[in-house]
Amino acid sequence: MKKVLILEDEVSIRSFVVINLKRAGYDTIEAGTGAEALERLKENPDIGVAILDIMLPDIDGFEVCRSIRATNKSIGIIMLTARTQEMDKVTGLMTGADDYVTKPFSPAELTARIDALYRRIGGDGGQDAELLSHGPFVLNTRNRTLEKNGVRIRLTQVEYAIMKLFMHNPGRALSREEILTTVWGRDYDGELKIVDVNIRRLRLKIEDDTANPVYITTDWGYGYKWGI
Ligand code: CA
Repeated sequence: MKKVLILEDEVSIRSFVVINLKRAGYDTIEAGTGAEALERLKENPDIGVAILDIMLPDIDGFEVCRSIRATNKSIGIIMLTARTQEMDKVTGLMTGADDYVTKPFSPAELTARIDALYRRIGGDGGQDAELLSHGPFVLNTRNRTLEKNGVRIRLTQVEYAIMKLFMHNPGRALSREEILTTVWGRDYDGELKIVDVNIRRLRLKIEDDTANPVYITTDWGYGYKWGI
């Protein structure tokens, strides 16, 4: 069964999420504090997606996200953000989250986001495994790994999906809409900004000089291009 961790200190919200996720067929693991969430993750390495509230009694959700990402690149992470905290979205993504859902949210919206993340995590089958190489980079779609000059670069699921899209389309400018649809799915109703934030994060990992990117270049007013 697909396991989801819910970190939320407000019991009423947490119960509401749990009931709806169970109804949608997910197995749920609950935590009320950041420390508890990290403990539950250690006990349940098969958790595929974690939903993290930001305002918590001990460490904040961004810290929890950072801690998870320090050891686990493959888990899907969704931040629960407050409507008024616009910066939370960007901060959350920069600390390694894959997506965010704004409070108050509908159960259907949250479930759709989790389903989409799960699709990406389990996306590539072994049968279409291939090696894509470009310059110093080699992307292996069987192991879902990226190497630069033979050194492994750790990517989140979203970053991996973007790299795969780029490496399938070298030299072609991809619009932000196209990247959003391909990576997040056709039903995703989030903002285009999520593409820019993920590109920024990806550049930090793969470019020699982030201020002068040469692998992922910007096509102003349109999108991004892979390759020199
Ligand atoms: Ca809270």
